[in-house]
Amino acid sequence: MTAKKDAPWQDLPEAGIITDPGNAAEWETGSWRSNRPVWDEEECIDCLNCWIYCPDSAILIEDGAVRGIDYRYCKGCGICVEVKPKKPQCLKMIPESESEDQQ
Ligand code: SF4
Ligand code: SF4
Repeated sequence: MTAKKDAPWQDLPEAGIITDPGNAAEWETGSWRSNRPVWDEEECIDCLNCWIYCPDSAILIEDGAVRGIDYRYCKGCGICVEVKPKKPQCLKMIPESESEDQQ
């Protein structure tokens, strides 16, 4: 059903209802991705900028160090690459089609 542009809210179709708090884990948003960040463990200095700014909590951390990227949730927004330090080439974005791992 498509609502008219000027339709009152009562006529809008139901969608995107959050029925349970904290249910974001159920929605694996990784399928939205057209580009993916690739993490280079050798270059990473564990500044944690990527972890702090990732809107999907897709940067995996263990004992205060990055361990990888959870591609089940990474939407490929590229924020992690934007906020990484200038020097290390710790993260780069590549087209999903160039990825060897089509996870
Ligand atoms: S921004 Fe780069 S250097 Fe900092 S924790 Fe993330 S991957 Fe490592
Ligand atoms: S591309 Fe976006 S969603 Fe994916 S790890 Fe980076 S900041 Fe998180």
